[in-house]
Amino acid sequence: MTYSSLFTQLAPDALSMKLYSTTAKEVERALQNPSGNLDSLLALLSPAAMAYIELMAQQAVQLTRQRFGANIGLFLPLYLSNLCANECDYCGFSMSNKVKRKTLTRDELAAEMAIIKQRGFDSILLVSGEHETKVGMEYFESVLPLVSKAFNYVAMEVQPLETEQYQRLGKLGVDAVMVYQETYRAHTYAQHHTRGKKQDFIYRLDTPDRVAKAGIDKIGLGVLLGLDDWRLDALLMGFHLDYLENTYWRSRYSISLPRLRPCTGGITPKVELTDAGLVQMICAFRLFNPQLEISLSTRELPSLRDNLLPLGITHMSAGSSTQPGGYMAPDSQLDQFEISDNRPVEQVVEQMKRRGINPVWKDWEMGWVNS
Ligand code: SF4
Repeated sequence: MTYSSLFTQLAPDALSMKLYSTTAKEVERALQNPSGNLDSLLALLSPAAMAYIELMAQQAVQLTRQRFGANIGLFLPLYLSNLCANECDYCGFSMSNKVKRKTLTRDELAAEMAIIKQRGFDSILLVSGEHETKVGMEYFESVLPLVSKAFNYVAMEVQPLETEQYQRLGKLGVDAVMVYQETYRAHTYAQHHTRGKKQDFIYRLDTPDRVAKAGIDKIGLGVLLGLDDWRLDALLMGFHLDYLENTYWRSRYSISLPRLRPCTGGITPKVELTDAGLVQMICAFRLFNPQLEISLSTRELPSLRDNLLPLGITHMSAGSSTQPGGYMAPDSQLDQFEISDNRPVEQVVEQMKRRGINPVWKDWEMGWVNS
């Protein structure tokens, strides 16, 4: 069984009605029993919960401290390629966009990694567009030995693969796979994904099952906030997370909450998510799942990122580039999307320390699993 068989039994419109008719009493009940309870998650994501945001934030800070301490893990994305055989109307890498295309050679990859290492990072997220023939398994298998030799924690955000392929990647040192559904609303998904393999909503939805079956340590879920109603998309992601945790309890899970950002040929958000809404969502997920890792990207402005630090965030990037070769030779024509927090990592770290948060550069050592 995979998640799609359960997902097709959900009634998103009925869930949406429940979200928008939640009462203050139901939110208060949810605050008494939020952990692992999908009814409570629904209430905490509802408009009615906005009035309780202060209380939610206090609980979120406390739970995050209890489970993760005053620590936030730092990582950097490394873009391998911006080639893509899909058309997603919110992304600068879409195949019809007339942008320069580039795939890193082994030498270029080594140069990018050297810069990232020099900045102190030991955890890396390899990102690429989805181009199976030019940036597929053969390419990944040729570069991963170099990457896993240099970094103790390697995550990947590339096209969905088969279980057996994830097993091969795991043997080459991949610790985590991020696969974002973008939106859990099938009709909205179809509107925004108009060409290429990514059009297959169900295949993407079942990807975390394949990743888990391959024994990869961590699985990352995410929705692109703004494509559809963020409250409902976040709730549906909560259902997905709940299924995965109950089915594959050995894996760790993370979520990412990116808001739609401007990019070449891009679109504007259908439903705007305000800063307060983002805070509500982070707190709702922390209360729902105290051990969940929550990642924050440089899409958000510095002031907001600094304020979000203690609320529930466990991992963040800093000083990121969203283009292949961008650490060595930045070229804005190659960007996937615009970044809002352009501060160098030293400045971000200084802010973290000022707020009593320890930046964690390395929390994993391959030797531990091999000993
Ligand atoms: S979102 Fe991913 S699949 Fe879609 S165009 Fe961008 S890189 Fe390609």
